[in-house]
Amino acid sequence: MSADKQVLVFLETEQGALHPMGAEALQAGRQAAQGLDAELAAVVMGSDTAQAAEQARHYGVNRVFVAEHPLLEAYHGEYYCQALSEVCRTATPAVVFMVNTLTVQDLAPRLAWKLDAGLVTDCVSLEVDAGELNLIKPIYSGNVMAVYGLSTMPGLVTLRPLAFQPLSASTTPRGEIVSIPVSPDHASARTTVLERVDEHAEGIRLETAERIVAGGRGIGRAEGFDLLKAMADTLGAAIGASRPPCDLGWVPAKAQVGQTGEIVAPGLYIAVGISGSTQHQAGMVGAKTIVAINKDPQANIFKIADYGVVGNYEDVIPVITETLREILA
Ligand SMILES: Cc1cc2nc3c(=O)[nH]c(=O)nc-3n(C[C@H](O)[C@H](O)[C@H](O)COP(=O)(O)OP(=O)(O)OC[C@H]3O[C@@H](n4cnc5c(N)ncnc54)[C@H](O)[C@@H]3O)c2cc1C
Repeated sequence: MSADKQVLVFLETEQGALHPMGAEALQAGRQAAQGLDAELAAVVMGSDTAQAAEQARHYGVNRVFVAEHPLLEAYHGEYYCQALSEVCRTATPAVVFMVNTLTVQDLAPRLAWKLDAGLVTDCVSLEVDAGELNLIKPIYSGNVMAVYGLSTMPGLVTLRPLAFQPLSASTTPRGEIVSIPVSPDHASARTTVLERVDEHAEGIRLETAERIVAGGRGIGRAEGFDLLKAMADTLGAAIGASRPPCDLGWVPAKAQVGQTGEIVAPGLYIAVGISGSTQHQAGMVGAKTIVAINKDPQANIFKIADYGVVGNYEDVIPVITETLREILA
């Protein structure tokens, strides 16, 4: 691949600024661009992109594409897909990287359909071998690492959050800002956003947390999570959950970890009252250290845990929390 080709990184924004995970996608983009002898570009979309575009220039990119339109003020799948496909048609990237956030889980398949492009989701690493980009992702709940190639132009790639070390910003901005006119079509949109409710997550964000305390059906009731929150506060950890506590309304739906929830890769994951279904493991098996607390010594979670405690969480958690308070005081 020659240098006239480029690797494009889609950067999400939050209140006009870059989403912190964009730096992870830029890391993957840079690795791919270096290996493929391609240029590195970023794309920022919104109704006012000035701040985010300027931020993006600090990551050593050759250019920042901006797609600005009033309809892009907040995420809407159809408008964003339309606009990003227009950017891709103009920029003709070889590959597009984006972090597998909830927004991207909606956007990436739409874009793949719109561009008739191949899409590899949830990649945790990449390598370039003889000019070919290989994308590595865990399959079968992390029991097998699969290697994928891309045979379309562009190829689309989503990245598992926290799998790539965020690229550091430099003090010197670099790269030109290239405005691409986009025209998301309100008339042909098949969905309308009726209301947006900002769910203010309490405490630390799950997707970027270095430590997570997660509860399962074994917690038994919403109030049971108070014990987990006390331990999480002591550890500086975020609260996560398996699916049942979310379905039962004990914790917000966005706390769900797993195949149909967040995929996380913290340094420490404490699974409390969670049996360890394959669907739950799909979201947390990438954690560096897994601790399981479960009253059933045969629970599946112990098969992947680095440390395990067999017991009733109501007895175990207060003791651990108190000990942690003493150690960390
Ligand atoms: C298509 C699909 C997608 C899914 N996506 C997800 C997903 O994203 N995330 C997810 O988590 N699940 C998902 N599920 C559900 C999944 O199959 C399991 O049903 C779920 O993970 C089980 O949650 P659990 O381990 O909390 O509950 P259980 O399997 O009921 O386990 C509860 C555990 O708590 C222990 N326990 C009970 N009381 C105590 C106590 N007092 N102290 C200590 N331990 C105790 C028990 O021994 C048991 O091991 C999905 C299912 C499907 C079909």
